Amino acid sequence: MAGSFEEVRIMKNSISIFWRKRSDFYKIRLTKCLECGKVSFPSRTKCPYCGSKNVRIVEASGKGTLVNYTVSYYRTEDSDELQPRIIGLVKLDEGVIIPAEIVDVDPDSLRKGLRVEAVLRRLKSDDPFGLIYYGLKFSPVLK
Ligand SMILES: [Zn+2]
Repeated sequence: MAGSFEEVRIMKNSISIFWRKRSDFYKIRLTKCLECGKVSFPSRTKCPYCGSKNVRIVEASGKGTLVNYTVSYYRTEDSDELQPRIIGLVKLDEGVIIPAEIVDVDPDSLRKGLRVEAVLRRLKSDDPFGLIYYGLKFSPVLK
């Protein structure tokens, strides 16, 4: 997932792991099987459908459609006011469905079928060291 839960877990563990995997944070890499033709996520060396190792890693366009979503609310340290956080399932134009955080939109105006695109956003800051981690989230496509 772009800015996925797995990636956030990695960030907590090691700055060096983040650095080594940084290209995965800023791109959505898919696996295209040259045997059966199916596309999968994440990128890997073997097709999860037919087992073929005849695969090619391709970069997703970053555009897709919101298939479903949920909104949770949380409080920040600075405020008692509840903040929305939207987690969606995005069907990429390449046909793969991935989980992703949806940003720049009022939860009340969300709807299934909304066109979205990947955008670079702050994921987390490591306050004692002043490090800021960035990754991909999805934002509505502006017309
Ligand atoms: Zn295959």
